[in-house]
Amino acid sequence: MTITHNLGFPRIGVQRELKRAVEAYWAEKMDADELEATGRALRLRHWQTQADAGLAYVPVGDFAWYDHILEWTALLGAVPARFGQPSGEEVGLDTLFRMGRGRAPTGTPAAACEMTKWFDTNYHYIVPELVPQQTYRIARSYLFDQVREAQAAGHQVKPVIPGPLTWLWLGKGDAFSQGAGDPGKLALLDALLPVYAEVLQRLGELGVEWVQIDEPILVLDLPDVWQNAYAKAYQQLSSTATATAGPRLLLATYFGGLGNNLNVLKGLPVQGLHVDLVRAPEQLNDILSVVAPDQVLSLGVLDGRNIWRTDLDRIRDQLAPVVAQRGDRLWLAPSCSLLHVPVDLAEEQTLDAELKSWLSFATQKLDELRLLAVALDGKEDAVTQQSLQAQRDALAARNRSARIHNKVVQQRLAQSNTLSRERTPFTERIALQQIKLGLPAFPTTTIGSFPQTTEIRKLRREWKQGALSDSAYEKAMQDEIEHVIRFQEKVGLDVLVHGEPERNDMVEYFGELLGGFAFTQNGWVQSYGSRCVKPPIIFGDVARPAPMTVGWSAYAQSLTNRPVKGMLTGPVTILQWSFVRDDQPRETTCRQLALALRDEVTDLEAAGITVIQIDEPAFREGLPLRRSDWQAYLDWAVDCFRLSTSSIRDDTQIHTHMCYSEFNDIIEAIAAMDADVITIETSRSNMELLGAFEDFHYPNDIGPGVYDIHSPNVPKLEWMVDLMKKAAARLPAERLWVNPDCGLKTRGWPETEAALVAMVKAAETLRYT
Ligand code: GLN
Ligand code: ZN
Repeated sequence: MTITHNLGFPRIGVQRELKRAVEAYWAEKMDADELEATGRALRLRHWQTQADAGLAYVPVGDFAWYDHILEWTALLGAVPARFGQPSGEEVGLDTLFRMGRGRAPTGTPAAACEMTKWFDTNYHYIVPELVPQQTYRIARSYLFDQVREAQAAGHQVKPVIPGPLTWLWLGKGDAFSQGAGDPGKLALLDALLPVYAEVLQRLGELGVEWVQIDEPILVLDLPDVWQNAYAKAYQQLSSTATATAGPRLLLATYFGGLGNNLNVLKGLPVQGLHVDLVRAPEQLNDILSVVAPDQVLSLGVLDGRNIWRTDLDRIRDQLAPVVAQRGDRLWLAPSCSLLHVPVDLAEEQTLDAELKSWLSFATQKLDELRLLAVALDGKEDAVTQQSLQAQRDALAARNRSARIHNKVVQQRLAQSNTLSRERTPFTERIALQQIKLGLPAFPTTTIGSFPQTTEIRKLRREWKQGALSDSAYEKAMQDEIEHVIRFQEKVGLDVLVHGEPERNDMVEYFGELLGGFAFTQNGWVQSYGSRCVKPPIIFGDVARPAPMTVGWSAYAQSLTNRPVKGMLTGPVTILQWSFVRDDQPRETTCRQLALALRDEVTDLEAAGITVIQIDEPAFREGLPLRRSDWQAYLDWAVDCFRLSTSSIRDDTQIHTHMCYSEFNDIIEAIAAMDADVITIETSRSNMELLGAFEDFHYPNDIGPGVYDIHSPNVPKLEWMVDLMKKAAARLPAERLWVNPDCGLKTRGWPETEAALVAMVKAAETLRYT
């Protein structure tokens, strides 16, 4: 019988119960016992769902109060000194929360640990802090407690833990400055491995047969020393495991192919190996050639990163020979943890039945897995045959559906090669723009949004629910826009914005106005801590039936003689923050988005808008995990940006905005986007981030942020002047703009006013010195 298992289940709960409970606990509206009870109920429910789907093993250790890497860091006793953890004591819940977010109901607040994106997902983990002489010990018992909890509920468990090399790779520390791959970190292995061995031993004592040990860094470009470290580390783990008759190890990799790390696996003393066949289907034969006859091979065949139903027939055909060859040493699973997809499609009441039949959330994926196993075993009864047929029919219908394919869009895309991506050279363009805009040196602007008060959110909500008429809503938004325009005139900003009051979210707003998008009610995915996002679903060809922002922007421009920036979200960012269709390359969907935005840009210009900003905060996050794939991505991503922006006159000014800091790797691509002005985040790093622009001799205009909008603090005038002087020492002064780091939507009005008044004064000071 084909064995199925799962690498991890979403922990938040279908109604975001975990988020609600954790936030209530933080606000001291729920006590620890009640919080624990909520967690326990969620775990039991999720294990049951998985057991009902016929999984041979349910994962334990995928649950976390804040983040599963943080839980593991705490279990290892790697609590930074500033949290005052008494040695020898169990790391408590509040210490965990203080590490994750700086504060908790008890304990002194302290600077939270850094948070970073988990590989190329939108999940953020808490970065382990590494110190050279760290002593590790088992300092939290959650894993053992939860194993017992699941066993008591009658489940066959498979604990899931981060592998030692992945944990070290993800960690950071002042003593290890050379980035993720700093070989110095490997010196910590000697102290770390005995604790891993002890964990395995204790799990063995609990009767655990298999432990899944996650080593996703094996899909990255690893330096030799890291590759070589695997043999030694796993030798040590496996010798304790065998000596104590401990559990067998299933080494799990996901998010890509193993590439040349395949050599690492040859002869590695683990009893099983999981690989991702969704992201890297081509690796199957190579894997089969290194996996030993007595090793278990787990194949990740259902997409753990997307929400489409799977073509089970195709997988069955592909796998049939492997099943014949490997028998019960073949396991099947989703490609990675289901943490990255919503919990249950059954909760969706507003998606129509047709669209729903194309989709599969975590719960449905487990059903698909069960069907696949039954089909592979040739054990279909009437019911499974019916389900398989229904799945087939749904996929065929999706393929043919008129809702997916839009002839006009496809024809336009086919001809889009002939559309120009070129603008006149920057030096000529900027001269014309300067004549038209008449801006001073060090022009001032903001990034787009202004404070989003509860009043604004309420208006939007009431309008969406039909409680507020279109005309009343429009009037209310116009009043807000007028308020924002008058405010900016009073403060003395040079290039104004309309403030984005009509936008709940910079992707959702556009998705709702574009064809080819669908939205869920409960399709939540954890982003970090208690934060969840509901990514839109791009299911069909993207079309723009009507202008999306022109009305608001033109209204704002009608109120003032100063230029008002039109404000759009870029094609790559919309793509990156959505669930994207799997029946065409991402690049194709991105070009469709680019064409829709190109029309919007053209219409904005025709409506008298002279400056247009296209935000691309997700441009860098789209970078593939392997360096060899970077250039292809950057080529089409840049091409999409240029496609969006090149329809316009020379004297219309294009801005872009990116709010992250690592530009070194992609500076050439940023230059190739050829925006007239780029605004970036720099205030926290004291302008150090401008190094990449300086070294590259970046030719176009730059607005290095001087106001850190992630903090409620009002920046001092002198500090901003000083920052801009630092910038002027690195880049030509005539290319510089003065602006905040990012949008102001999360800030309050008083601090925004004080900060922008000071920012405008800073620009004036710079002009006269
Ligand atoms: N224009 C957006 C805003 O100001 C940009 C947000 C972002 O960069 N994430 O809110
Ligand atoms: Zn930003």
